[in-house]
Amino acid sequence: MEFEVVIGLEIHVQLATRSKMFSGASTVFGAGPNTQACLVDLGFPGTLPVANREAVAMAARFGLATGGRVAERSIFARKNYFYPDLPKGYQISQYELPVVSGGAVEVAAPEQPPRTIELTRAHLEEDAGKSLHDALPNATGVDLNRAGAPLLEIVTEPQLRSPEEAGACMRSIHQLVTWIGISDGAMQEGSMRCDANISLKKPDAPKLGVRTEIKNLNSFRFVERALRCEIRRQGEVLRENGEVIQETRLYDSRLDATRPMRDKEEANDYRYFPDPDLPPLTLDSGFLDELRRTLPELPQARRKRFERDYGLSAEDARRLCESRATADYFEAAGRACGDMALAARWVTGDLAAALNRDALDIDASRVGAGELGVLLARMREGALSGKLGKEVFQAMWSGEGGADDIIASRGLKQISDAGALEGIVDDVLARHSEQLRQYREGNARVFGFFVGQVMRATRGQANPAIVNELLRKRLEK
Ligand code: ADP
Ligand code: MG
Repeated sequence: MEFEVVIGLEIHVQLATRSKMFSGASTVFGAGPNTQACLVDLGFPGTLPVANREAVAMAARFGLATGGRVAERSIFARKNYFYPDLPKGYQISQYELPVVSGGAVEVAAPEQPPRTIELTRAHLEEDAGKSLHDALPNATGVDLNRAGAPLLEIVTEPQLRSPEEAGACMRSIHQLVTWIGISDGAMQEGSMRCDANISLKKPDAPKLGVRTEIKNLNSFRFVERALRCEIRRQGEVLRENGEVIQETRLYDSRLDATRPMRDKEEANDYRYFPDPDLPPLTLDSGFLDELRRTLPELPQARRKRFERDYGLSAEDARRLCESRATADYFEAAGRACGDMALAARWVTGDLAAALNRDALDIDASRVGAGELGVLLARMREGALSGKLGKEVFQAMWSGEGGADDIIASRGLKQISDAGALEGIVDDVLARHSEQLRQYREGNARVFGFFVGQVMRATRGQANPAIVNELLRKRLEK
């Protein structure tokens, strides 16, 4: 590799509060334009912002979950710039004293061992509005519903080494913020957006190279694709002994290329200063203790526990901890049937496939964890074969009722009674004298044919282990 890739992300997460960062206006997504912007969001003279306690608690929760330092005292600052979607002429953010400093997340790019990526900081700020370029003929509209929405900006150290690792970092933060309940993580609604900073350097270069910043990437895939483009572009510049210019760029997914953004203000042109309308944000130890006490078991710890206590493979534990809802579902189903390994197999297998087919989240599963548990219990007791289990599951999925109802109404109970099966075995052998002769002449494969015939005669309900045993006994004679 000719150049080393260095990436740092600035990830904006919309916090899942009902009201905005500094006003009581609603944050519900999808309302008609400008129906959810109040006088505070619009910056009318005489109005005053008040920090949202829930948003502050969420930021602190993130700090605790990542092992960062949560500041007892932090400062809201004004970041001044003009833009049509920013009627106040400034955004309230945090600058010198953010609410969270430090901390780390575990990141695993595909096929790579997990690595710890350090976080620089996480600070609270308000979102801007949105310019609508396609809503009106020959004009741009401005929708201020999003103005003032609460954001947590999470900044990583420049420690990511590839586009895939940057994508994995964003996924890992997405998993964490939804897990601890501070964001709904709805990517398609813009609840998580990322600015990606990237530079290249020769392996022996003592300092980092000059970076560019790709703005406003709103999906995992776009982060990876935009960074790949930018690696190519910077590589070409450097190979021709040119200089990379520090600038902000935009990614055009249609052209799969980045281009410079019309030059905005330099960082020091924002004229940050403490917002005189807001007192310092102070968090007392009682408030933090309560947050610490109510923090759920985190993904990494839960994965480890699944491996240790249930003997699951690292891969199964990882899949079952993709979301907290999945982990909860798995544990409930496992407890209900008393077999964690069987539950793991079904949650990552048939259930995952059914959810995927119907594009449903596990919260909206058509078969609840307890109901799946009953089905798995019947299979464990030997009342249902694996094949019939799948059939019952599909019937449960299409709303035919619980496992026991379906087993009864379809008459699916597995036949394990040797007396009942003996007659069927004898009948099958009597009707296939030609195959019986082949078997006696040494064609052992015909055995499978006999098993198949018995299964067919019982519509798949015979217990295969008992059928095998009976056939073996008969054929030995
Ligand atoms: P600014 O204050 O201009 O926003 P920061 O120092 O806060 O710059 O860094 C912003 C982001 O850019 C961070 O995620 C950081 O890790 C990343 N970054 C900084 N320098 C580089 C570099 N040379 N190459 C790649 N990423 C970088
Ligand atoms: Mg920055």
